Amino acid sequence: MNFLKRSRNRSGYSETLEKLRKEFYERWERNIPSSTNGLNDFDRIKTLGTGSFGRVFLVQHKQNKNYFAMKVIDKIRIVKLKQVEHTLYEKKILESAKFPFLISLEYSFKDNSYIYFLMPFVNGGEMFTHLRRVRKFDESLAKFYAAQVLLALEFLHYCDVIYRDLKPENILIDIKGYLKIADMGFCKIVKGRTWTLCGTPEYIAPEIILSKGYGKAIDWWSYGVLLFEMSAGYPPFTSNDPMKVYEKIISCKYKCPAFFTLELSDLIRNLLQIDLSRRYGNLRNGSADIKGHRWFHHINFEGIYNRQIDPPFKPKVKSPSDTSNFEEFPESDLRISQHNLFQDQFEKF
Ligand code: AMP
Repeated sequence: MNFLKRSRNRSGYSETLEKLRKEFYERWERNIPSSTNGLNDFDRIKTLGTGSFGRVFLVQHKQNKNYFAMKVIDKIRIVKLKQVEHTLYEKKILESAKFPFLISLEYSFKDNSYIYFLMPFVNGGEMFTHLRRVRKFDESLAKFYAAQVLLALEFLHYCDVIYRDLKPENILIDIKGYLKIADMGFCKIVKGRTWTLCGTPEYIAPEIILSKGYGKAIDWWSYGVLLFEMSAGYPPFTSNDPMKVYEKIISCKYKCPAFFTLELSDLIRNLLQIDLSRRYGNLRNGSADIKGHRWFHHINFEGIYNRQIDPPFKPKVKSPSDTSNFEEFPESDLRISQHNLFQDQFEKF
């Protein structure tokens, strides 16, 4: 439904967010465990990516012939790495969060060894791959992407969900040139503070490193890092040694390249604030301070939300099953145990 089109002012969009939040929690409460079969309904084509708990395959539904990305998560690995709770969250967030710039869950099932999440195949590849290919995005492209990530984070935060793993590797580009944020593995509903150390070193906020307990504001820090990396081609805090990266983060030592516009440098400065009472996104007006910043002056958020703006870049995609925008990975088979492993721990999946 085209909510933003009908609601032109800010209070109208608040109503939209309110409605989206209500629907999010209705789906969240449903709690329907996945079925125990489904794998035979799909033909496996090739590996699209690997994560710490398994891999993602391109698959085709045998009957309707649609293509999906099938994330296969190894129960043994999740239990060993104490990630059962995070993975259950991932499933529930994928099921519940429906937003134009977030990946959604189409099917899920489980068997003796694995949990399976099936999502629409986003065939333009990772933002990361495109960024490394062109070295850096010009500011108009960075701004187009930044506007979508901003709306997605605003929505998640409105639902009290922290994302916790923002980075170009987790952002996919669809056939039209719009974004889908993938990998909800670190999402969590947090009303106050939380303490778990997670994220990717270059993108982690100082309050996580300092083990102070943290809240939604960490996503706005990572958002500042993303704005910098998209426009510079490298992140603001770098070193081969993760400890040095952390030192730079907690002292907020970075330098914007001279080619950044003043507006971009100013927005980044307001996001990369160690002091939470100064960090944009975390102030009284929330995300409105970012939307209202001069760098976004000409951005039509309504048009972007409704996917009506012509994207500045369209990935080259030859067919719905074209995987040329993804890296090649050695293939490996799924080995399904004769016994149902960790049945109790995965009962709610
Ligand atoms: P994840 O474990 O969710 O981070 O996924 C690992 C990698 O698989 C991602 O970085 C993408 O390259 C790829 N991937 C995940 N979901 C999709 C999707 N829906 N469409 C296309 N590729 C995907």
